[in-house]
Amino acid sequence: MNKLTLSDLNVDGRAVLVRVDFNVPLEEKDGASHITDDTRIRETLPTIQDLVKRRAKVILCAHLGRPKGKPTPKYSLAPCAARLGELLGQPVAFAKDCVGPDAKEKVAALKPGDVLLLENLRFHAEEEANDETFAKGLAAHAELYVNDAFGAAHRAHASTAGVAKFVKQAAMGLLMEKELKYLQGELANPPRPFLVILGGAKVSDKIGVIKALMSKADAFLIGGAMAYTFDAARGIPVGNSRVEQDKVDLAKELIALAEEKGVRFLLPVDSIEAKEFKGDAEHRPTEKGKGVSDGWMGLDIGPATIALYRDEICKAETVVWNGPMGVFEMPNFAQGTFAVARALAESEGLSIIGGGDSVTAIHETGLADRITFLSTGGGASLELLEGKELPGVAALTDKG
Ligand code: AMP
Repeated sequence: MNKLTLSDLNVDGRAVLVRVDFNVPLEEKDGASHITDDTRIRETLPTIQDLVKRRAKVILCAHLGRPKGKPTPKYSLAPCAARLGELLGQPVAFAKDCVGPDAKEKVAALKPGDVLLLENLRFHAEEEANDETFAKGLAAHAELYVNDAFGAAHRAHASTAGVAKFVKQAAMGLLMEKELKYLQGELANPPRPFLVILGGAKVSDKIGVIKALMSKADAFLIGGAMAYTFDAARGIPVGNSRVEQDKVDLAKELIALAEEKGVRFLLPVDSIEAKEFKGDAEHRPTEKGKGVSDGWMGLDIGPATIALYRDEICKAETVVWNGPMGVFEMPNFAQGTFAVARALAESEGLSIIGGGDSVTAIHETGLADRITFLSTGGGASLELLEGKELPGVAALTDKG
């Protein structure tokens, strides 16, 4: 990596603006917002604790939800300041805006080792517009900048990209460094066989990843609704399953490309089919190799596919997984996703899970600590796997 990292910065006594990902799920209760999962806050602790220990004046900035450029009380970051204070074991000051007089006053009051959280960046439309004046306003708080918000690094916003050129030095935080180490570094030359498991709703979201990893992977295992678009391309009956009609030709091309490159491209050999898209709908396994019955829809991979995919996972030395194998939110259609999660946890090889639903699934199995690396960013992890440069990383200072 040719970008500055946290340890390259001399932070002693200096103000450091740190972009973090505090986009946590909230629940409204008794008129107040409560954090239902503080994983994202916990993930940033190593960076914040390192800065505190090295006597930096820590100024955190983040976004929460989609307030559409206007102050919106339910998207206030105030609950995150309170939670962070508990986790750090020290008070965390809070500024009611990310720029302007209150923020300036609170920044000026910081002593080395203090921590301040600024209010939601997205209360200003200028944040997502990557407005230069707004970026300068943020940069004015500090001499140094650290980006630890991997989950937002695929966006070129004022706080993730624009701000970097207005500070003395811009470096990546420890979480960002870890994400890049696994999703980029380890996968540059992965131990083989290298397996890529893709699922989820749409082929269109995964085209870039399939194309980019086609020249690296030994095999792909496909599940989720996206498998039915490939089945449609192969002429296998899909019944009423979710199919992206406008992507059927592309699916054909991807299958042909895999063949040409000698990459195994495995599709489900059976499904759990249901009468309707409902948790308690009548359902049954399909006959192996026969596709989905007329009037039914495929909502999960079937038992033969689970056995086949388990076997593949077991033999692999590197596995990357993104996207559920079925409608895992409904217990009747969650078997495939949980079976893949368990197989991955049991495997001895390098296992990397790319954000979102697959990370939720592995947590639900209680086996998350058996996975080599769980990414904190869904969209950002996909873009890295596609081989794209993330704007939030590109903007950082090059190592001199
Ligand atoms: P994605 O956001 O692309 O990773 O897709 C995740 C969503 O795909 C989840 O909400 C799943 O319920 C959904 N999904 C997975 N398999 C199917 C399926 N066979 N039919 C319909 N939706 C599915």
